[in-house]
Amino acid sequence: MNGKLEPGLYIVATPIGNLSDLTPRAAETLARADLIAVEDSRVTAKLLQHIGVKRPMQPYHDHNADKVRPGLIARMASEAIALASDAGTPLISDPGYKLVRDARAAGVMVTTIPGPSAVIAALTLAGLPTDRFAFFGFLPARAGARAAAIADAGTFRGTLAFYESGPRLAATLAALRDGLGDREAAVAREISKRFEETVTGPLSALAARYESNPPKGEIVIVVGPPGEAETASEADMDAALREAMKTLSPSRAAAEVAARLGLPRRQVYERAQQLK
Ligand code: SAM
Repeated sequence: MNGKLEPGLYIVATPIGNLSDLTPRAAETLARADLIAVEDSRVTAKLLQHIGVKRPMQPYHDHNADKVRPGLIARMASEAIALASDAGTPLISDPGYKLVRDARAAGVMVTTIPGPSAVIAALTLAGLPTDRFAFFGFLPARAGARAAAIADAGTFRGTLAFYESGPRLAATLAALRDGLGDREAAVAREISKRFEETVTGPLSALAARYESNPPKGEIVIVVGPPGEAETASEADMDAALREAMKTLSPSRAAAEVAARLGLPRRQVYERAQQLK
């Protein structure tokens, strides 16, 4: 683990729970970097301690990123700067994309040391189709904004993945059921840690399970694509559109109904235009 690294930016994935998941190349890069840009230096210090190294760290998070980014970019011309978040892959619901964008614009070398990410780990656990999936990070906390985001997510005809916290889990599962229909889903919790658990079932059953029993720990929700059995009839679509258009414009009603019934948006929009 000696010798200098080529100058540039090194995106380093770190474990999402089990420290043994740090890859040898990630450990070597952290050990040899001139500086590590970190979300929280206390968290990364524990990881460095685990591999027995000490390196200089520079906090890089949502509150100081704009201020410290130019200095980091300038240093990348002659030094190896690693970027590590508290857990998992940087840039995935974590800071970093503007650092990569500006590093590229400055013409410095950018490379990644891939490794764990909770969304990918959860997709492997859920037992739901993985040929087409979309990741939406954390849904908004406010009910209205959350419902709109879910309607938007529902226009994607594949598996959906969301990050969530224990106290909000039941309300989010209920909102997903209301917005998407009662699709098959999975709640993957504490992946790679001692109390790892994945519970699968329809959204309604998962919402009921967690309502009286909010779980602890870190969570990924995976929701399966709309199934054949859920394909709504034209009568269902017309009834839903008439109801929705009492309060929404035809295009918003079409978006909402398409997401809820798992129908193609264009088809529902054309019907909304006929019914208005
Ligand atoms: N960059 C990280 C990644 O690649 O997964 C994600 C960072 S995001 C701020 C943190 C969220 O990821 C948590 O709130 C949780 O939803 C999810 N998460 C992280 N570790 C997890 C784990 N071990 N099990 C389940 N979900 C996890």
